[in-house]
This record gives sequence, structure tokens and C-alpha cells, in this order.
Amino acid sequence: MWVGTRRQFNGLIIGGIAMMITKNFSSNEMMCHCGCGDADMDEDFMKQLQGIREEMNRPLKISSAVRCEKHNMKVSSTGKNGPHVHRKAADIVISGADALRLIDVARKHGISGVGISQRGEHAKRFVHIDTLSGDDGHPRPTVWTY
Ligand SMILES: [Zn+2]
Repeated sequence: MWVGTRRQFNGLIIGGIAMMITKNFSSNEMMCHCGCGDADMDEDFMKQLQGIREEMNRPLKISSAVRCEKHNMKVSSTGKNGPHVHRKAADIVISGADALRLIDVARKHGISGVGISQRGEHAKRFVHIDTLSGDDGHPRPTVWTY
């Protein structure tokens, strides 16, 4: 689905297009941060993420979703087999009561992996959610902290 977007920079309205994967999540926000342009998320995961977004009834800011192998090697100890490489994971910037509610809602929607980063500045705190299974080479269900 393609939708028009309008952004305002210093009084100028700039029109553009964004590719929406689901109603609330665009390929831009799911894209690998290395610059490779890869935004190819797992379809089932995106349906679950959209369901979580609707039940939360608030915007969910994604800080990391797709990671190509190369990028994951750089930023994660999970290397070539990390949850983000499987395209079934998202890190959501959220803290406090909302973070706890996200974990509850995510579990209801079939999330099998929860990583919790809740130290330091609230603006940088996040919750990782994924839908991996033992078949992906990761023990699930599980929870961890960073
Ligand atoms: Zn990449």
C-alpha cells in the first residue's frame, strides 16, 4: 500500500511517498540502519505487530527492526543468526507502565521473546519483541535484559 506523506521543514511543505507494510508501520521505519535499504520483514510478524499496535492504542516507535547479517554482526552478539536477521523482531522505544503493558499485550499476540532495556534515560529505554521458535536456533519462550 502506497500513501502520500507531507512533512513540514522550516515552513516548507515537502510531499513524498512512504511504503506502508501495515496500516501503522512503513518500510522506512522497519529498514536496516546500515544503509543497505533492506526492509523485508516477516509477514506474520508484521500482522502480530499491527495487532499489538491496535490493542495498545498508541503509536509504537521502532528503534530497530530488519538487520542484514552484516549489520547484525556489527551491533549484536547474536551475529548472523540474530532475531533481527530473521526479520521477526522489533525494538520498541517505551518505558515505565507502558512498557509493562506492551509486554502483557505482546504475549497475548504470540510474542515468544522479550528483551528488556529499562535503565538510564527514558527516551532510550526499549522493549525488544520477537516471534522466534526453537526451529530458528533460539530457545523460546524466553525473556532477557540488556
Ligand atoms: Zn543492512
